[in-house]
Amino acid sequence: MPGTGPQPMADLLTVNNLKKYFPVKGGLLQRTVAQVQAVDGVSFTMKPGETLGLVGESGCGKSTTGRSILRLIPPSSGTVHFEGRDVLAARGSELKQLRREMQIIFQDPYASLDPRVTVGDSVAEGLKIHGIGTAVEQRDQVRQVMERVGLHPEQARRYPHEFSGGQRQRIGIARALVLQPKLIVCDEPVSALDVSIQSQVLNLLNKLQGEFGLTYLFIAHNLSVVEHISDRVGVMYLGKLVELSDRIELFRNPLHPYTAALMSAIPVPNPRAKRHRIILQGDVPSPINPPAACRFHPRCWLAKEICKEVEPPFEEKVAGHWAACHFSDQVSREPTASTKQ
Ligand code: SF4
Repeated sequence: MPGTGPQPMADLLTVNNLKKYFPVKGGLLQRTVAQVQAVDGVSFTMKPGETLGLVGESGCGKSTTGRSILRLIPPSSGTVHFEGRDVLAARGSELKQLRREMQIIFQDPYASLDPRVTVGDSVAEGLKIHGIGTAVEQRDQVRQVMERVGLHPEQARRYPHEFSGGQRQRIGIARALVLQPKLIVCDEPVSALDVSIQSQVLNLLNKLQGEFGLTYLFIAHNLSVVEHISDRVGVMYLGKLVELSDRIELFRNPLHPYTAALMSAIPVPNPRAKRHRIILQGDVPSPINPPAACRFHPRCWLAKEICKEVEPPFEEKVAGHWAACHFSDQVSREPTASTKQ
């Protein structure tokens, strides 16, 4: 009977047909002569408490997607809703509140920390901007959040250069966490760290998610990083989302050749285990003048005439598993000899 069963959980974030084009200026009058199609029609939703991994090569638009959602850069078109609120239309106090609830962790926390400001003051900055608590309360909150991210509260008096890369990333996490956000965009938060430190930071993010019920949009350039932290994974190529699925389903049954290629690059822990590496031909094409129809066709070993003429729709191939490929049913098959290493 309608209304008596469990209600489906409402989406925390809804991104619809998001686009971000950057103008390319040229000539004497510096007119716009072309557009970099950094993000071109990306749509997805996120549930509260989930982690969505967003992966793809450098320049595929994943960081631009994250920053456009937060309005750190203004999107060209599309819509973003956070708990039903229109993020792109928000102004004044509503925008301020949204900024508090949607935070970001950067790849290079050192670049976002002022070297002349103590770490405690940097962590407290958001509290001051949002006018949260008295000075004493702010100090208390900073001490508490530093402890939660594995730093000693006494370290609040130190300066950024006195910390290691992993510790600085903990400071970056503390700066985001102190505002008690609901969503955190993690923009390649471990890419600049040593492998041994990467797992510590990933474990910390996992622990904090459990403690605070956080939702993560986790951006990374390879699948191995998102493999253990994500509930679902989205794969981007040249400004487009080409695959989106539950993590286990995606790794078991990739439905886009690009995902299969990324997957084949993940190192196998057992040296005796064999994995056929798929080597993609050529470089990533320019987002100023992307290939027609399927943007992946110049590098795809499954490409046929239709791929150059008709853009494959991003559609649900099996329940909850979306992909944009005319021949997704052939992707899991062995790649041809020319693509193996
Ligand atoms: Fe490859 Fe064609 Fe699928 Fe594009 S649509 S990924 S070119 S098979």
